[in-house]
Amino acid sequence: MRAFLLALLLPFLSLNATGPTVVIDAGHGGLDLGARGYKPYCEEKRLSLQTAKLVKKYLGQLGYHVIMTRVSDAFISLSKRVETANKTGSDLFVSVHYNSSRNPTAKGIEVFFCDAKSNTLRTASSRKLASLVLTRLIHRTKAISRGVKKGNFYVIRETKMPAILVEGGFISNPGERNLLKDPKYLDQIARAIADGVDQYFKKK
Ligand SMILES: [Zn+2]
Repeated sequence: MRAFLLALLLPFLSLNATGPTVVIDAGHGGLDLGARGYKPYCEEKRLSLQTAKLVKKYLGQLGYHVIMTRVSDAFISLSKRVETANKTGSDLFVSVHYNSSRNPTAKGIEVFFCDAKSNTLRTASSRKLASLVLTRLIHRTKAISRGVKKGNFYVIRETKMPAILVEGGFISNPGERNLLKDPKYLDQIARAIADGVDQYFKKK
């Protein structure tokens, strides 16, 4: 009887994530629109949230516990985002953004990590995560790789766990903006981020 009950409950038990905790940070929100493009009209805050929700879905399916810094179109300060990650003792932090440049031909995907000399272990882990996520992103989207880069962004500098900031493409580039408006393309980006995170923990 017990075995029967367990078999019945098993599909639901997997929802009770026991894996590592990953914070997914959808960039911008509320009054902070982030980058914008026209024809087609596009706001970074919407793309980042759409992507973050998909990443949560895929990481959840892989057994990870996911914490979101925002789940709606709300303004959340950078310090609040960092606090969410640090206070929950999360294992990893991934910030999702889309890029913008004055040069409309600029395109491709880049992933940032913070080079903190005071914590070389965290820096090395962040660099490794950035590299794994970027590889999966390029593989899935066929976009141009702009590489893994050092960045001094607040959310990846002040968080205590390994952290990256993904710039998933240029809203300012008409071609890439069109791709980003396609939910299927965002889905590939989200799957790639989730795959990269999963690889990071499996390679540990
Ligand atoms: Zn941004």
